[in-house]
Amino acid sequence: MIDAVIQSQIMAAVDALFDEQVDFLKALVRIPSLRGQEAPCQDLVAERLHRFGYEVDQWQLDEAEMQHHPGFSPVMYTSYERAYNVVGTHRPRQRKGRSLILQGHVDVVPAGPAEQWTSPPFEPSERGGWLYGRGAGDMKNGVTANLYAVEALKRAGMQPAAPLYQQSVIEEECTGNGALATILRGYQADGVLITEPHREQLMTAQVGVIWVQVELNVVPIHAGHTSSTFNVIEACFPIMGALRHLEAKWNANKAPSFADVDYPVKFVFTKIQGGEWPSSTPSRCTFDVRIGIYPEWNVADCQREIEATIREAAAQNPVLQQFPPTVRWHGFLSPGYVLPENTDVEAALAAAHEAVRCAPLTSHKGTALTDSRFYGLYQNTPALVYGANTKNSHSFDEAVELESLRRVTKVLALFVAEWCGLEEYK
Ligand SMILES: [Zn+2]
Repeated sequence: MIDAVIQSQIMAAVDALFDEQVDFLKALVRIPSLRGQEAPCQDLVAERLHRFGYEVDQWQLDEAEMQHHPGFSPVMYTSYERAYNVVGTHRPRQRKGRSLILQGHVDVVPAGPAEQWTSPPFEPSERGGWLYGRGAGDMKNGVTANLYAVEALKRAGMQPAAPLYQQSVIEEECTGNGALATILRGYQADGVLITEPHREQLMTAQVGVIWVQVELNVVPIHAGHTSSTFNVIEACFPIMGALRHLEAKWNANKAPSFADVDYPVKFVFTKIQGGEWPSSTPSRCTFDVRIGIYPEWNVADCQREIEATIREAAAQNPVLQQFPPTVRWHGFLSPGYVLPENTDVEAALAAAHEAVRCAPLTSHKGTALTDSRFYGLYQNTPALVYGANTKNSHSFDEAVELESLRRVTKVLALFVAEWCGLEEYK
């Protein structure tokens, strides 16, 4: 690990910049970068990267270019008309160390009913050491940590002695196609770190995720004339029950990577929509399921088993024999990922963590997925996931603990120094 005097200079620089970092985080949270509306947020990141001296590459995601890649997931909801990635490149004067990608995503999930929030979701609010707002936790704080860790090195008169790429991506919450687009654009490095909020622990394995939508369609009649007990909304329930059975079977049959985790693969019914009018029998009901799979499992095999389960359950119903369900795959078709053991990049992070925290780096396994799979599976680059302590991700009153963000930024700055090496700031 680098000299203790230099370490403390770097950490002091993180402290000196921290108010500015939090202001930048607030500015990011103020932009509701929901799916299809991320462009202004990416413009702000690009502007900050320019100001910090990076060479900035901003480009539009191209579905046609990505769709034959095994990591591609079918696009949800909106087009990529205003969907941009941003990458800032730092080049050293003389390369001495190992190159690095620091990655974060700026897309956020919908806020839900605003009245359920203590303060409005897109107005950042600081209370009791936490910064509240949609995206404050997952994961705009991580984007600021990436930028300000490197900026702190410069404030301390140093800079990374290897190429360093600041990646601000989108689509993390529905497909991962933003991270995929960086790979197809040609970005690659010796190590990757994604600052997803993971309570200052290293994530060593993550499940894969599949999104499936089931739609039932029948011919409607007047509710007063119905002569059977069939109802398309109620007809969803046995199909959901069959999926719950499949979930129980998969959890009883754990793959080695998640053998020590309780309830690792979760089937969650996330949306349901059906019916047209209170006095008409419903003609349509659609529901969405988010399904976890083990990293060892193949996505296509899982899709086959899921679809067979849906079709067998539907076939039990005489009406659905006539009107079989439509099964749609859109959004995640994503394999899981297991971080290889004993890598140099993990050792560098562990040393940096220990220098800041005076305690060893601990780890956990994730029952949700992150973008790290792309770098690991398709570039064979170990991809670390490590970030601040947050609460209520994807819920009301989402927040990041600011002192945790400060510590993570310090760890990151020391990690960059260790991994990339240092040279004098020009
Ligand atoms: Zn996230």
